[in-house]
Amino acid sequence: MGQYVAPIRDMQFVLHELLKVEEKLKELPIHAETDADIINQVLEEGAKFTSEVLFPLNHSGDREGCHHDAAAKTVTTPKGFKEAYQQYVEGGWAALACDPEYGGQGLPIVLNNSFYEMLNSANQAWTMYPGLSHGAYECLKEHGTDEQKRLYLPKLVSGEWTGTMCLTEPHCGTDLGMLRSKATPNADGSWDITGAKIFISAGEHDMAENILHLVLARVPDAPEGSKGISLFLVPKFIPNADGSIGERNPIFCGAIEEKMGIHGNSTCQMNLDGAKGWIIGQPNKGLNAMFVFMNAARLGVGVQSLGLTEVAYQNALVYAKDRLQMRSLSGVKNPEGPADPIIVHPDVRRMLLTGKAYAEGARAFASYVALQIDRELHHPDEEVRKEAGDEVALLTPIIKAFITDNAWIATSDAMQVYGGHGYISEWGMEQYVRDARINLIYEGTNTVQSLDLLGRKILMDNGAKLRKFGEKVRAFVEENGTDEAMSEFITPLGDLGEKLTKLTMEIGMKAFQNQDEVGAAAVPYLRVAGHLVYSYFFAQMAKIALEKEASGDKFYTSKLATIRFYFGRLYPETATLIRQARSGAANLMALDADLF
Ligand SMILES: Cc1cc2nc3c(=O)[nH]c(=O)nc-3n(C[C@H](O)[C@H](O)[C@H](O)COP(=O)(O)OP(=O)(O)OC[C@H]3O[C@@H](n4cnc5c(N)ncnc54)[C@H](O)[C@@H]3O)c2cc1C
Repeated sequence: MGQYVAPIRDMQFVLHELLKVEEKLKELPIHAETDADIINQVLEEGAKFTSEVLFPLNHSGDREGCHHDAAAKTVTTPKGFKEAYQQYVEGGWAALACDPEYGGQGLPIVLNNSFYEMLNSANQAWTMYPGLSHGAYECLKEHGTDEQKRLYLPKLVSGEWTGTMCLTEPHCGTDLGMLRSKATPNADGSWDITGAKIFISAGEHDMAENILHLVLARVPDAPEGSKGISLFLVPKFIPNADGSIGERNPIFCGAIEEKMGIHGNSTCQMNLDGAKGWIIGQPNKGLNAMFVFMNAARLGVGVQSLGLTEVAYQNALVYAKDRLQMRSLSGVKNPEGPADPIIVHPDVRRMLLTGKAYAEGARAFASYVALQIDRELHHPDEEVRKEAGDEVALLTPIIKAFITDNAWIATSDAMQVYGGHGYISEWGMEQYVRDARINLIYEGTNTVQSLDLLGRKILMDNGAKLRKFGEKVRAFVEENGTDEAMSEFITPLGDLGEKLTKLTMEIGMKAFQNQDEVGAAAVPYLRVAGHLVYSYFFAQMAKIALEKEASGDKFYTSKLATIRFYFGRLYPETATLIRQARSGAANLMALDADLF
């Protein structure tokens, strides 16, 4: 069923040539020893594990799905998932970017990020089981007590136990302030938690011996709304003091959802009936603590979509070289055959290049943000840590929404390359489209991401974080502005930077009169910002490729062609997006709800 070959050459280009990670990691004492050899070795081993172990389970996992046994209250994952997870744990993969204090390998997040791209290309549904554990690890590490860290972190790090995030309830998803799950205190410091959660990914399964649920609930007399939410650790089995498995906690899966994609991942309704939990952080400060998890997960969702874009593109490319249909408009290209391969047709190339450009742009962008997270966590200079953190905060909603929107386009195009064969399930292409669709919805819908970007991260901050990022773009434009060969990339980059600044000010002014102006502009605004970020990275990559093309290495020729395609065919949508963002709230809000 198709193929997956990890794009190691492009990953190495991004890590070594574009981001110069080895040099950057030397600035971080904890990662100073992570050299190019270690990075390349992890990429190669990761490529083997993902393509040989996980990829073969992708299509079968989609077909089989998960099975819920209502009487036993258990969930069985598709055939082979459990064994693959065992191999993952034994290979030490869960521990890759975790703290050695808890048994981790202490490697940087930027490297883990590349490994996660491979995992998601190979099998997104499977990857969500360990993927959520990493978020739980980050959250507990930052907000857990010493005892919680001692008891739980080594198990999460080894992968013996997995984690979940239990936020959503039937009546509230985006608006978590309305959640109703209740926590009542016990004399021993624990809490009894009662409530119903829905849509909980990896909420119940058979892959690990224990599951640690991070649950949002309200303590007695909590303030209304989001200010009254607390976070609790609710293990499926309550561990004994020595870490061994103890009593079963009453947090059970009532049903699993039938859904459009990611069938191999169990999406569970979870019922808590006086389940024992332990508070993480302070009462009523749960959302604050959960944000650590949510931010990690938002980068993770972007990388899910990057993985799907890459694998869908790869398969479409193989097919387009093989499938013979019609003759090229500009003359026969395959005289020995009854027709030409479809890759000769301009529009098939457009679809392939869309996938290639969106994969390569997302890879550069996500790797950059992952490296900034390493700097935010470990740079010895407080000022650098803060600047990196501000940039990560600004770019996170763009990572989540822009990459996932693009993957929806790219997987759909990849499917289209197959014609009718893409729509039937035999070739596996329609699965990528179905799997990609959820990424626009969960972890805060893409609309919510755009409101976070424009409202919270930009306007409420008076544009400070955006200005800082803009200074980097401007410096690059100035540095390369007189280079003739770079002008085809620098001109659109500089132009879009100016337009985005103007657009931001315009919306900010309108928002003083009417806050709906923010909601009306936010979605196209985020796409414009996404294109500014991609233009910035593509222009940097073009500079390297122009310098190295003369070496004869065709990788750089291919890179330049992709970048030219991006600026010629994808970037121009910014003109329409800016018009949409400027068109204001009136054309959306004029119609009375009864008149729709
Ligand atoms: C397969 C799957 C897995 C999931 N995994 C998890 C999980 O592991 N843990 C978990 O807790 N949850 C999980 N979720 C839930 C997911 O995060 C929510 O579905 C999502 O946050 C949206 O909430 P909702 O479905 O209630 O939609 P609603 O909040 O009801 O939103 C409906 C629509 O209104 C829009 N909307 C809402 N408010 C605004 C606003 N202010 N401005 C503009 N538009 C707005 C939304 O963007 C959306 O389009 C999962 C969901 C699915 C389908």
